[in-house]
Amino acid sequence: MKIKEAIMLLRHQEPLACETIRVRVSSRIDEDTYGTCFHDAEKGTITIRINKSLSLVAQLDVLMHEWAHAMLLGIPEEFDKHGPLWGVCYARCYNVIYPS
Ligand SMILES: [Zn+2]
Repeated sequence: MKIKEAIMLLRHQEPLACETIRVRVSSRIDEDTYGTCFHDAEKGTITIRINKSLSLVAQLDVLMHEWAHAMLLGIPEEFDKHGPLWGVCYARCYNVIYPS
């Protein structure tokens, strides 16, 4: 699956509580950073960045990981964590990308 296809599926099946969602596969990111998820509350945007140097499979994994953070937008104390709620969100993303 291509990354754009995966983004489209996630947008439809796990929509985010945010009007503007940007996903960038970028080479301008620290080489030891896989990805980031940034919420700009003033602008009402979510920006997910994925390190371009990763393999496609790893990029998909980072996309699911960061999308799961974005799903926790309404629960600020969980947004940055990798707790049980984040785990559930990640599993939901996984089922979108790799349906059983
Ligand atoms: Zn994370």
